[in-house]
Amino acid sequence: MITPNRIPAHLSPDVGPWPDDLWTKELAAAARDAETLLDAVQLERTDLPYPIDTAAQFQLLAPPSFIARMGRGNTNDPLLKQVLPTLQEQQVSAGFMRDPLAETDPDRGFIKAPSLLQKYQNRALLITTPGCAINCRYCFRREFPYTEHRPKNHQEALTAIAADQSISEIILSGGDPLLLSDSQLPQLLSNIESIPHVQRIRIHSRIPIVLPERLTQTLMDTLTNRRCQIVMVVHSNHPQELNDTTARALNCLKQSGVTLLNQSVLLRDINDDVGTLVQLSEKLFTQGVLPYYLHLTDHVAGTEHFFVADEEAKEIYAQVQHRLPGYLLPKLVRELPGEASKTLLA
Ligand SMILES: *Cc1c(COP(=O)(O)O)cnc(C)c1O
Ligand code: SF4
Repeated sequence: MITPNRIPAHLSPDVGPWPDDLWTKELAAAARDAETLLDAVQLERTDLPYPIDTAAQFQLLAPPSFIARMGRGNTNDPLLKQVLPTLQEQQVSAGFMRDPLAETDPDRGFIKAPSLLQKYQNRALLITTPGCAINCRYCFRREFPYTEHRPKNHQEALTAIAADQSISEIILSGGDPLLLSDSQLPQLLSNIESIPHVQRIRIHSRIPIVLPERLTQTLMDTLTNRRCQIVMVVHSNHPQELNDTTARALNCLKQSGVTLLNQSVLLRDINDDVGTLVQLSEKLFTQGVLPYYLHLTDHVAGTEHFFVADEEAKEIYAQVQHRLPGYLLPKLVRELPGEASKTLLA
């Protein structure tokens, strides 16, 4: 139950954190097959423009709170399209690969220790958990060999970070690091903070958007008053993903002193238009989040139907730029193998 005396005084209980034991139940209640999801949004298979891929290896996963924000009876819903596996994923074209970024190619040397990936100077990425609270069809990590980076024990990774004085920021990634339990997460943060040259811990998580119930008082306590500054980069692609529930979750993070940024992926027929992107930035800001990156999708096999070509992306972006103040304009980027940072496209 919510314990009202622990909620900041200016907040009423329904805008404070959720009870500790709710999020795991919500996750257990997530849709894991198309039948359940289509039922919930009042659609029949025969309504769909593309057949469902019932044998998809990368399983359907969508939590109730996210499904609640989908339109009813709308095959074209921008949230539905992000999670429903269709046979479009079977298309294979030249140039689309399983691992276009070659992140785990040993020759590239990005893997510094099991679960530790470093591509850029001064910051390194720690793979904390294989799973997410949602499976996004366009995900570039869908083929990631998580089993070789079993995050159970980050000892070697922590030793490698401690040995490299140049690393000032650790990025917790996954999967989704907020799937770590309320005992695992503080332990990991403390272990990282025990390395003196680490100044910032950045958490990349889609959970405040898709499973807002994860924002418990215990999590808030974990994030509050740490030695390192905590930055959270959430992931929202469409203004329809943001409602009172996400506002409540994001406010909990604000109350915990976390700096909030957002990254989006530019997705064909989902958010590849000026109005949607402008509205997304403005709505993010009303919920206390600054836009950070707008990513172009990588050439990942099975995600081609989401792909927006560079020229088109730049045109959309130029118009978005005209309509937004500079601080609400995300950076348009793509990740190219072998570059020292993300590549700015505009
Ligand atoms: C994107 C990314 C980062 C972070 O880059 P920023 O530009 O600092 O956001 C770090 N490591 C890896 C492997 C990445 O893919
Ligand atoms: S939340 Fe992020 S990592 Fe997880 S499936 Fe979606 S895009 Fe991939």
